[in-house]
Amino acid sequence: MSQVYNFSAGPAMLPTQVLKQMQDELLEYGNAKASVMEISHRGADFMAMAQKSEQDLRGLMDIPDHYKVLFLQGGASAQFSMVPINLLQGKTKANYAHTGHWSKKAIAEGERYCEVNVCTDSSDNKYTDIDAFEHWNIDPDGAYLHYTPNETIAGLEFDYVPEADMPLVADMSSSILSHKIDVSKFGVIYAGAQKNIGIAGLTIVIVREDLMGNVVANQPILFDYTTQVNNDSMYNTPSTYAWYVASRVFEWLKQQGGLSAMAKINQIKAKTLYDAIDGSDFYSNPVAKKYRSRMNVPFLLNDESLNGLFLEKAVANNLITLKGHRSVGGMRASIYNAMPQEGINELVNFMKVFEKENA
Ligand SMILES: *Cc1c(COP(=O)(O)O)cnc(C)c1O
Repeated sequence: MSQVYNFSAGPAMLPTQVLKQMQDELLEYGNAKASVMEISHRGADFMAMAQKSEQDLRGLMDIPDHYKVLFLQGGASAQFSMVPINLLQGKTKANYAHTGHWSKKAIAEGERYCEVNVCTDSSDNKYTDIDAFEHWNIDPDGAYLHYTPNETIAGLEFDYVPEADMPLVADMSSSILSHKIDVSKFGVIYAGAQKNIGIAGLTIVIVREDLMGNVVANQPILFDYTTQVNNDSMYNTPSTYAWYVASRVFEWLKQQGGLSAMAKINQIKAKTLYDAIDGSDFYSNPVAKKYRSRMNVPFLLNDESLNGLFLEKAVANNLITLKGHRSVGGMRASIYNAMPQEGINELVNFMKVFEKENA
């Protein structure tokens, strides 16, 4: 199979090395005499993998000891419910930053549990900019502040971490592991795995110990962080294969030099692509430069009637899944950790050729 670069927003590209390892290990996992898909999550082989994966993630992200790490199901969307259920703790309000499609969804779910104070709202600028933090209207009675560090659809990424006098909750589905963060600034971090971790079916949750143990009454027992912590994310059967894939991606990240190395690579990748967009009158990106995402790069062809042809020729050149989200239009290149610089170079070369042929 010739080299294909997949710009899908999620489920997204995996490192080729990890895919090959999955293939090598598919029929027989270590000494288990069976596939990792076929063995008990409570057996020694799986447990060893699970423990090592947590250690590796803790090492990669420098997660302090007073944070618990969970490997759950339900996607980031289940966390839209689990966050209010676990963090309201008797309060009736929470603060949410509305900066895109995904924060909007988190808000809609939050409103089922409490009064949501939308402390900043980027919908007026179509999610292309973020209000300066000093203009945010944070309700001090809110139980927590929820935000989305990287909005996957509009390609809008915070270049700072908001700080308020309450637990900070971050939906890091499309930016976790892309650069180093200071975990101690957060109350809860969560991320669906299918963007920048591994495959669909797994959700990583990192939760500060003292925030657990006081849930809204009569909610599903699986939605209580304490249930999950007390059972090492195995109250019921976890998503075993997705967990295994994540463990292989963590090992791959360590081999690449960890998150500071990834951050440098990601920075150069994003710059290569944005420079190509900005350097042409044929393509454009509407997001405020300061808040442009390093992971999801939407771009428009100034002549929209060429969109179909662009996509068709891109596929012919082994550059796939570049179609933008319907709410933004145009194209979107998702360039998570697994996308190498060569993929960006190929895309940029293709864009230049297409421009020459069609301008
Ligand atoms: C994809 C995505 C989600 C939804 O994730 P699911 O795992 O499908 O629930 C939520 N938030 C962000 C930022 C995303 O990119």
